[in-house]
Amino acid sequence: MESMKRAFLKIIILGDSGVGKTSLINQYVNRQFYNEYKATIGADFLTKEVIVDNKLVTLQIWDTAGQERFASLGVAYYRGADCCVLVYDVTKPTTRDSLDKWRNDFLEHANPLHHDKFPFIVIGNKTDLQKNAENNAIAQSWCNGKGNVSYFETSAKNGNSVEEAFDTIGQKALEQD
Ligand code: GDP
Ligand code: MG
Repeated sequence: MESMKRAFLKIIILGDSGVGKTSLINQYVNRQFYNEYKATIGADFLTKEVIVDNKLVTLQIWDTAGQERFASLGVAYYRGADCCVLVYDVTKPTTRDSLDKWRNDFLEHANPLHHDKFPFIVIGNKTDLQKNAENNAIAQSWCNGKGNVSYFETSAKNGNSVEEAFDTIGQKALEQD
């Protein structure tokens, strides 16, 4: 018998300040983009109902309140996540170097059952500004070297590949047990 999965899937987004985490959520959920700096969506999370595998599920997408700049994110942020999204800025290689730190932070705080099987998505954001195949191959290869990590490149500004990335996020969150 197929196991019952709760209808709410918790998605959390990590990455250095300024890489576009809040912008990605706003583009996906509200189809809006703000050029000016907007540190937070003003809530702990936004929700979006989607169909995954013919099931209606609610993605509960958590955003940081900008505290990734100076402090650790509380344990409530990580707890019970079904999928973890790691974002870097394709124009800033140092933000890609932080992927390891954010993945380790997640595994340490959320402590999922199987560290090597837990679903991660890596997003290289701001492709409207720059495309650098060599740089991006480094990110792809980092993903390949980990367990269950998919790679996307997006622009939260023009919306490129945002929907595709979140489709996969929903899919992987639903599969997570
Ligand atoms: P966060 O700190 O990771 O949440 O990043 P924000 O979403 O606040 O974005 C930081 C800045 O980058 C803001 O000025 C955004 O307008 C800008 N930004 C975010 N995503 C993109 C993108 O895809 N393209 C461009 N050109 N700017 C972006
Ligand atoms: Mg933000």
